[in-house]
Amino acid sequence: MTGETKLICKICRSELSVAVQMISTKDPETPKLELKDQCPVTGPGTVIKSWESIQALIYGHSVPTLDFTPQYWMNPIDVEQFVTFVKDDKKLSGCCGLSGFDGPNMCCKKCKSVVGTRQNDCITPNIFIPDSQNTQWIETES
Ligand SMILES: [Zn+2]
Ligand SMILES: [Zn+2]
Repeated sequence: MTGETKLICKICRSELSVAVQMISTKDPETPKLELKDQCPVTGPGTVIKSWESIQALIYGHSVPTLDFTPQYWMNPIDVEQFVTFVKDDKKLSGCCGLSGFDGPNMCCKKCKSVVGTRQNDCITPNIFIPDSQNTQWIETES
């Protein structure tokens, strides 16, 4: 797949990401992913469409709110200007960062709808995973 895409909020239609290139884990040209604690799974400007949930791949225990596919794995830098933390402290749990284990913890800056899960703890990668219900991808002219 070529061309660029952007994540938007389904509720207010605001942009939630810069324009990014999408690659799929089903594409043989997609490099093997390195999933390391506290490291981004992808560089800025590239989003990975994964056909396995991140839970299935690395956690080995149940995180129901992240157990869906396809799942998009983003570098947090690509969304940081458009999203902010939810007000619910319970969702912002973690030991030294955000675990993301207690449900989506990031919302749209404009309308405050929940739009994804940020993780950056010592037991998670450094990643943003869009919510599957409140977000969608749109093609951008490139
Ligand atoms: Zn919104
Ligand atoms: Zn920690």
